[in-house]
Amino acid sequence: MTQQCRVHISLGKIGLSSRYSIKTTRGIDVVKRVEFLHEKHGVKISTIFLSNSSSEYQLYKRLKRGEQLTHTSLLCLERCIDKIFSTLSYDKKIWTQEEVLGTNISSLLSYLEHKLGPSSIKHLKDNLDLSHYTVYDSTSQSLIPLTYENLVNGTNVWIPNRLSLSVFKEALNLLGDEVEIERAGKYSVLNTDLRFKAAWAILMMSPAKVIERVTKENESYNRTKVVTIESICANSAVIKAEYKQNITHLDSGEFVIPAICAWNKGLYHGYMALGGAKNISIKELACAARGDGCCVFQANWTETLSIFKRIRAAISLFESN
Ligand SMILES: [Zn+2]
Repeated sequence: MTQQCRVHISLGKIGLSSRYSIKTTRGIDVVKRVEFLHEKHGVKISTIFLSNSSSEYQLYKRLKRGEQLTHTSLLCLERCIDKIFSTLSYDKKIWTQEEVLGTNISSLLSYLEHKLGPSSIKHLKDNLDLSHYTVYDSTSQSLIPLTYENLVNGTNVWIPNRLSLSVFKEALNLLGDEVEIERAGKYSVLNTDLRFKAAWAILMMSPAKVIERVTKENESYNRTKVVTIESICANSAVIKAEYKQNITHLDSGEFVIPAICAWNKGLYHGYMALGGAKNISIKELACAARGDGCCVFQANWTETLSIFKRIRAAISLFESN
């Protein structure tokens, strides 16, 4: 069978659960980051957006008034903010950098508890040093100490990449190998509230469409990497993840570890299963955690189920978890 391949350069983002709720969250996030730079580092808002009369500054004022901005406008504002963040010294930002949304961490913790029992969580809690980490609290408009509970209920908490790496390292120690981490990623697709809602939307899509949506969604969950679809066909796709420069890392210098890649493989697997794909195989052809310039994932699947069979398969997936 001849397959039509398409090549994408995809930096856009459309929320999986709801296009509008993701936009709103992103808008609030932009405001939070600007306030953080202004209040904690004394950066003038006009400096962030180049001048008082720039179009970016006007966009920011509209956002502050509560208007919804388009994806392109938000991206424009985020670029200005990222530029300022990149000028902060590593020491200044390491403990406060908002790089990864806590959603993955909270679902990983819930998997550990489900799989290994509450004692596993206690073990991880005891081994995790949160003493330097702070989060921006929009109610008090100040930095407050990050607590373990913030991580457990992490759907609205942005944390440094460094902390995400530490949690995944501990989880790997507890679970034993990366295959289990991959399974945890797959489980998380089916057991996170936000993703649970998204899951039902995915049932209506083809596996290839699912990959496109999940890839675009990447930016909603982290600011550590840019994910693009290199090629996509009816039964396979190649996805590239490029890590950004200057993201926070472990003392060893690692800015990504194989456990993170295993988790991402699990996420793709889970979403594709919901999209009706069968015989799914996801391989990592290159990996930044193993010394390559970027991570490259190849996904293959053999068959797409009808919508009725997908719903039946999804129900059995939920039940088996
Ligand atoms: Zn990798």
